[in-house]
Amino acid sequence: AVRARDVHKSYGSHHVIRGIDLDIAAGEVVTILGPSGGGKSTFLRMLNSLESPDSGVIEVSGQPFAHPSWLARTFGWGSRPLAHQRSRIGMVFQQFNLFPHLTALENVAAGPVYALQEERKAATERAAELLTAVGLSDKVGAYPDRLSGGQQQRVAIARALAMDPSVLLFDEPTSALDPEMVSEVLDVMVGLSGRGITMVVVTHEMGFARAAAHRVVFMADGRVVEQGRPDEFFTNPTEERSRRFLEKIL
Ligand code: ATP
Ligand code: MG
Repeated sequence: AVRARDVHKSYGSHHVIRGIDLDIAAGEVVTILGPSGGGKSTFLRMLNSLESPDSGVIEVSGQPFAHPSWLARTFGWGSRPLAHQRSRIGMVFQQFNLFPHLTALENVAAGPVYALQEERKAATERAAELLTAVGLSDKVGAYPDRLSGGQQQRVAIARALAMDPSVLLFDEPTSALDPEMVSEVLDVMVGLSGRGITMVVVTHEMGFARAAAHRVVFMADGRVVEQGRPDEFFTNPTEERSRRFLEKIL
């Protein structure tokens, strides 16, 4: 679903991404971690076409199969034409970025209505289902300033899901949250993983990586330094750079 080849990016004279090669399979859940300034957010922004590489290739393609039946059941996605979900990319940021003048329900329905020209009634029904799926059925009419950080972030996840993404990108989705709200967001993310949506998650939450990631990618100084299965990476990192990083955060 994601392919990066020898990707480079500089800001002025600052060479931030220094030759990244990475393949992520459809349905795979990958956690990217690494030190601050290593290029994780820049790389995610390139996957989402918010930035373009100076050189190299980035390809993000949709999944060749229909949504599995649980998605149809849980989120009411059964009736979507397949072409709709080709290479659609959802992104969830550290700051939730909800529209402050729209209710939770309107935030989730806005993309389908305005970007995809869906019928408002159908989009609203699906938005309500998505909010229920993230545990917010009682908050559909609430404005963002009446929601906790964890609730706002769950609305943001529902809003990303409403666009039928084939790839979901998360950039430190829990790092702006009070500690007691982290798990309600991680629980939703763990629930989404392994369900056929490709997920690329930048996070320092080892709990998520261990519970849900198929692969950990350790990025530093604009390169992929090491990658592997979470159990192997956390217990037996092979690179000195990864070992030093893990010593600091574990
Ligand atoms: P963190 O863990 O702190 O979020 P990161 O791995 O996400 O770090 P990036 O945000 O990708 O790192 O930044 C990589 C480097 O690129 C940093 O040195 C940063 O200052 C620089 N950088 C990022 N975006 C820009 C920009 N728009 N203009 C100039 N420099 C930038
Ligand atoms: Mg970042």
